[in-house]
Order: sequence, then C-alpha cells, then structure tokens
Amino acid sequence: MTERLGPADIARAATLLRAGELVGFPTETVYGLGADARNGRAVAGVFEAKGRPHFNPLICHFASAEAAFAQVEADDRARALAAAFWPGPLTLVLPRRDGCEVDLLAGAGLDTLAVRVPAHPVALALIAAMDGPVAAPSANRSGGVSPTTAAHVLAGLDGRIAAVIDGGACPVGVESTVLDLSGGAVLLRHGGVTVEAIEAVIGRVGRPLPITAAEASCSLRSPGMMLSHYAPGLPVRLGAVEVSADEGLLAFGAPLAGAGAVFQLSEASDVREAAARLFAGLRALDAMPGLTGIAVMPVPEAGLGAAINDRLTRAAAPR
Ligand code: AMP
Ligand code: MG
Repeated sequence: MTERLGPADIARAATLLRAGELVGFPTETVYGLGADARNGRAVAGVFEAKGRPHFNPLICHFASAEAAFAQVEADDRARALAAAFWPGPLTLVLPRRDGCEVDLLAGAGLDTLAVRVPAHPVALALIAAMDGPVAAPSANRSGGVSPTTAAHVLAGLDGRIAAVIDGGACPVGVESTVLDLSGGAVLLRHGGVTVEAIEAVIGRVGRPLPITAAEASCSLRSPGMMLSHYAPGLPVRLGAVEVSADEGLLAFGAPLAGAGAVFQLSEASDVREAAARLFAGLRALDAMPGLTGIAVMPVPEAGLGAAINDRLTRAAAPR
C-alpha cells in the first residue's frame, strides 16, 4: 500500500528515501519517482517499479547548483546556465567528478551525469531534507504518459512505491530541456526552457542530426535506447558455463571455478542486487590488469533480469 503524503509530511518522505524506499513527488515539470541516488539498490528499485526493460540514465535532482556541481564538473557555460535557469526545467549533462557519490546505475554506467535543480517548493524541501542527490525519472510505468498529478502517479504505481506526496498539479507539465555540455553544447531533448533562451546565454547550441521516421518511432517507443551506452574495453562473453584463468568472471550465484578474477553480482541470485552492482562490476573487471575478456554467468530474464541482459547484450555486441 502506497502512503499518501502531503506537503506537510516532508520529514516522513525524506526518512523513507534515506531508508532506500521510493517516493513520488511533484516537480514543476512532471511528478518524479525519487530514490536516494547514492543507493544502488534504491535506484534499481526505480527501474523495477517502472517495469523498464532497459537501464537508461536518470536525472539527479539537487537542492542547489552548489550541491550539483560538487558531483559533476561544471564549466563556465554550466555555471552561466545554472545562474540563469536554476531552479528550473533545464537538465545539464556534465562529466562525473572523481569521487562522485551518485551510484553508477543512476547514470547507466556512463561517465556523465544529468543534473538539475527543480523549481518546486515540495521537491526542493524534500531534497534538502534528504540531504543528498535524488535520482528521479517520471513517476509512471514504462511506456506510460508522464504524470502531472498525484492521482496519475497512483494510477500507475499504487502498491509499487512506498509513498507519494500530493503537491497538486505540476505547473509546467512538460519535461525538462536536456542539454549535453560534456563536449560542445548539444540539445538532447526539448522541454521547459527553450533553445533560444539557452542560446541567449551560451551562444549556438547544436541539434542532433534529423532522424528518419523509423528511428523517431523507435526512440518514441523506448526513449534512452538511442543513447550511446557504457561498454567495457575488454570483450564480453555471455552465458558462461566455464571460465579460463585469463578471464574476469561476472558471477551470478555460486561462481564458476578457475577465473582470473571474480566480481560477484549477487551471491543470493537476487536480480535487484545484481542490477545495483552491474556497472560497478563491469568497470572493476575492465580495470583489472592481465585479463583478456569478461565472462558473464547467465542471469534469468525475470524482473530486472531483462534490463540486465539488455545491457549485457549491448556490452557484448561486436564493436
Ligand atoms: P526522464 O527519464 O524522463 O527523467 O528523462 C531523462 C532524460 O535525460 C532522458 O532523455 C535521458 O536519455 C537523458 N539523460 C540522462 N542522463 C544522461 C546522460 N548522462 N547522457 C545523456 N542523456 C542523459
Ligand atoms: Mg518519462
């Protein structure tokens, strides 16, 4: 049963988030499904509750630009845009800092992170009370429409999340604009702040190349699928039933014997734990000296297993 909370229950909602639970909350754009971004299990729970068939990077919400820029590297463009539009519906994609506290799963394993300071009193109060970054995609089941009221959130997620804070209807109602500043400025998604307003601050912004109708319908069905994704440098071999001494083993359940190194995704064969450890495991084995490949034990398709296998299949695809 999902707790119905009001704006007066911020402390309760923050306690739930800190305990690794999921809380729906209003922002000025749409309702977000929040999790403590530092907690991989909580972030895995977001994908589970939404029923997402793949991991795509989530936007991390902060109470101030200062808090956001403690986790990512901000340049002059980012600082100028933050000064002009935060709090507000603009998301900036920036390189993670060394020692970034945000769990790798929240950024789908990428070296960049999408950050934003929302302009909604309830969202800001919640993030400040939790005292840390809140990872939050829209609070709807995968494939559903973004919710702009607490009733919409409950229609999709009642019983699947710990609580929702009813803060009334979202004033903007469309998603945030997403701008990639990890290189030259590129618009990734239109949203609440116009490109013209952004260009007035930092000059010319690149648009992604026009896409064909087929690509457009594909990206509409599964936003995030078109993103370049994290892939390790070592070749990845799936469905391993034996392993050699020059391979690193990504284990699920009782590990195969004979590997050069082992990273355990989940001793207990728990797909949620495995999801939370997936990107950390790929990176750890990839960085280990002397290995020629990564062998991955089979992960069942049930629940988050489908998203894990989707990401592993991409990591194993010939490049
Ligand atoms: P939503 O799930 O509705 O909050 O949307 C998040 C948007 O931000 C999606 O379009 C993602 O593809 C995009 N996004 C988040 N993180 C990154 C990143 N590190 N690089 C590129 N795009 C990102
Ligand atoms: Mg969405």
